[in-house]
Amino acid sequence: MLKFWNYDIVFAEVPDHTTLAVNLTGCPLRCPGCHSPHLREDVGDPLDDDALAALLARYGSRVTCVALMGGDAAPAEVEHAAREIRRLCPALAVAWYSGRDVLPDLIDRRAFDYIKLGGWVESLGGLASETTNQRMYRILADGTAEDITPRFRR
Ligand code: SF4
Repeated sequence: MLKFWNYDIVFAEVPDHTTLAVNLTGCPLRCPGCHSPHLREDVGDPLDDDALAALLARYGSRVTCVALMGGDAAPAEVEHAAREIRRLCPALAVAWYSGRDVLPDLIDRRAFDYIKLGGWVESLGGLASETTNQRMYRILADGTAEDITPRFRR
């Protein structure tokens, strides 16, 4: 089951959006210099359908996007959560910040409006860095992924 450590309303994680970012725990990745080691632990509150609905009821009208940050231990559950967000709040965009370089084959990226890929490499920097290994994609209706990473450097 997905669990989350905390959440926040943020402005720079998804271009053109005010985003409710939900930080998921249990990250199975081990990026050297990990910026959030607490998110690698199996801690936090379950993000089941009821918890998601409660978050959306409280914050859904204050944001234009919900970003699921992490969740790489259970990608199918992240896709389920994305579909649940769309079902409950169809006006909101849905983003996934994955630390993987590629998504597992079983994932239907059309469940998302945005997908960030790429692990944390301190020497290369994050999405706003010219040298970053990370990529942010906007997912079009047919599943095509448009690389919008340069938007983070304007
Ligand atoms: S994706 Fe990498 S940086 Fe992010 S929590 Fe997991 S190990 Fe740490």
